[in-house]
Amino acid sequence: MKIQKPVIIGNWKLNGNKKSIHDMFIPLTDFIINNSIHNTIIILPPNLYLDYIYKIIYQKNIVLGSQNIDLNCSGAFTGETSILMLKDIGIKYVLLGHSERRKNHHEDDMLVAKKFQLIKKFNCIPILCIGENKNEKLKNKTKIIIQKQLDLIFNLCGDNAFDRSIIAYEPIWSIGTGIIPDPEYINNIHQYIKNYINKIKIVNHSEHTNTLFIYGGSVNEKNIKIILKEQDVDGVLIGGAALQYNTFSTIIKLSQLH
Ligand code: PEP
Repeated sequence: MKIQKPVIIGNWKLNGNKKSIHDMFIPLTDFIINNSIHNTIIILPPNLYLDYIYKIIYQKNIVLGSQNIDLNCSGAFTGETSILMLKDIGIKYVLLGHSERRKNHHEDDMLVAKKFQLIKKFNCIPILCIGENKNEKLKNKTKIIIQKQLDLIFNLCGDNAFDRSIIAYEPIWSIGTGIIPDPEYINNIHQYIKNYINKIKIVNHSEHTNTLFIYGGSVNEKNIKIILKEQDVDGVLIGGAALQYNTFSTIIKLSQLH
C-alpha cells in the first residue's frame, strides 16, 4: 500500500553553523508547525551540532539523526562518535553506507554491515544507503550490486535485519549531479529491493515489518512530485536542496500533496 505521509530526510553533510541553524532551520521548524505538516522529517546535521539543535527542536515535528558512527562504543578512537553518545543525547536515527563515506573513507560493504548490526543492537534506526555507480549502471549491474550490499547485512543480522529500518536507494551517478533516473526506473529498483527482502523473510516464515524504501539523488522542488508519485517510493533523502529554507520548505509542502 502506498504510504500517505512520505518521510523526508535532509542530509546537511559538512555544512551549517550556528548562524544557518538560526536563519534557516528555526524558520523551518516554524513552517512545519504552521502548515500542520505531519510527515516524518529527519534532519542529519554534522554531529557537532546535534545536541545544540536537539535542544532547539524540543517538542517540534522534526527528528534528528547522525550522519555517521564509529564501530567502537568507547575507548582510544580519536575523533570518532559513538552510538552510546548519540543515544545519550536522544538521537535514534543513523545514516550509513553513504557513497561519500564509501569513497572518501574507504568504507566497504562489510564495514557498513557491521555498523548496521551495531545500530540495530542499540535499538536505533539505520538509514542505509545502497546503489550503483555510473559504470555499474552502464553494465546493467545495479541489482547485483544492491543484492551484495543487502546480503552481507542479512548474513550478519538475520532474516529480520531490515525491520524498523530505512533503505535509501541512491544511484551514485545521480547524487549532486542534477540528473535523476526515470521515475519508473526508481520504482522498479525499489520493487526489486522490497521483493528481495520479502522473499528471504517469506522463505524463512518471518513477517515484513516497518521497512521504508526511499530514494536519494538530486531531489529538488521540481522533481519531488513525480518521484513521490511512484507506488514503491516511501520518501526521499535530500542533500543539496535541504540546505536552503525556500527549497526545502517547498519540497516538504509538495510532499504532502503528491
Ligand atoms: C546525498 O548526498 O545523499 C544526496 C542525495 O545528495 P543530493 O540531493 O545533493 O544529490
